[in-house]
Amino acid sequence: MAESKTDWRKRYLDTLRELEDREKHLDAADELLRQTINRFGLAVADSYPRLEGDVRALRDAARKEAPLEELGRYVQGISQGILEEEAHRAPEEEAHEPPAQPELPGAPDLPGPARALARLMESVVFTDELEEDKSDLLEALAGPVHTDDLGTLIERGARLVNRMRRQLQQEKYELSGFLGQLTGALSELDRFLDQDCESLEEARASGQALREAVSGDTDRLQAQLADPGDIERLEAAVRHHVERIRQHMEEHHERERDRLEAAESRNRQLRERLEHMESESEELRETLRQSQIRLLRDPLTEIHNRLAFDERLRQELARWKRTGSPFSLAVIDIDHFKRINDEYGHKAGDKALRIVARQLAGSVRETDFLARYGGEEFVLLMPETPAEAAEGVAEKLRQGIADTAFRYARNPLAVTVSCGVTGIQPEDDEESVFARADEALYAAKGAGRNRVIAA
Ligand code: GH3
Ligand code: MG
Ligand code: MG
Repeated sequence: MAESKTDWRKRYLDTLRELEDREKHLDAADELLRQTINRFGLAVADSYPRLEGDVRALRDAARKEAPLEELGRYVQGISQGILEEEAHRAPEEEAHEPPAQPELPGAPDLPGPARALARLMESVVFTDELEEDKSDLLEALAGPVHTDDLGTLIERGARLVNRMRRQLQQEKYELSGFLGQLTGALSELDRFLDQDCESLEEARASGQALREAVSGDTDRLQAQLADPGDIERLEAAVRHHVERIRQHMEEHHERERDRLEAAESRNRQLRERLEHMESESEELRETLRQSQIRLLRDPLTEIHNRLAFDERLRQELARWKRTGSPFSLAVIDIDHFKRINDEYGHKAGDKALRIVARQLAGSVRETDFLARYGGEEFVLLMPETPAEAAEGVAEKLRQGIADTAFRYARNPLAVTVSCGVTGIQPEDDEESVFARADEALYAAKGAGRNRVIAA
């Protein structure tokens, strides 16, 4: 019981900490989004001098830390302006040169914000329901982005980050609400115990009063017995005293009965209150469990997500420093994944992602830790595995994927992966070991894909 209580408390605190971490992450995302908006403004001002006033208003608002949604509205207004500008320009320009259809007319550095936005979206872990909006947005950002779309896309990103923030705040609010209730119940318990003490005190006082009253009566009766006088007076006196003793007893019993009834009713209330709290904490425990699963799993592939991986990598590094027990890391990326999306659509891409995840998860050891790092990139942490052995594991995984037949709507899909693998080295930290594996992956892509390179 005591153990499950501390366990519960620990999980409560862990969840709260997790939520706060994610909020910090969102703050960083917020900041990046503002920078993206600023870059958008700069690029627009260069290419469309007539929109300078609008751009200035946007940048003023950004400087004054206006809410993201408001910035999003400015960005949309500017996009509208660009559309109108383009409509004016088109006929003049057509006379001199063919209607060029570059991704972003006249603004060579505009794709920068689109890339920044895509990277930003990939780095934020959203809840299941928002995750879908995120992948829609990523899909839109993956294609050629036109100037007039960009504003809308940025606005969608801003809205998404805001909604995520609201959801996090709601979860935190619910958690602290429950903690408030729990504290309330505990102080109620305190009050009950105080009353019980008072009630015991009263019982003692009431018993004492009875003893004093009875002994006073007995003393007086004995004094009269010592000097009997006439027998009738004596009899009346005895009757009188006996009656008074009986009255004292009765009063005492009445006080005792009231006291016991009050104590019983308090006990009953307390029990009911505790039972209620218990069932509520059971519910909360379940919610917490679910929300922890949600926090650490990728909804699409149902394997661990990046948040879970970051935490596990931290733990493995700490263990390596403590015990010197080595581990290796593989970064696995699907080759030419964009083509699958482009040729067969996002659904085909999603299906391929799920199959790759299942195939990888089914081929690694129970003690290995597989996560979807983002997009079409997976990471595999192999505890107690030196680099040479890890390279063998990665090669087996690569071969396994290459040998798996993928199909979408009866079309065979060619799916292969490239992989960078590395072993932990002295002086490594989270960033350096990951960066080394990532560079090896990059080299594997450069060397023709569908291969493993160790670093
Ligand atoms: P490379 O071999 O160099 O890795 O090429 P690639 O096409 O796989 O890599 P690139 O990074 O250019 O494109 C990755 C694509 O993955 C872009 C993005 O639309 C897609 N993607 C990312 N996340 C998801 C997702 O959740 N579902 C689907 N269907 N596609 C996704
Ligand atoms: Mg890829
Ligand atoms: Mg990739």
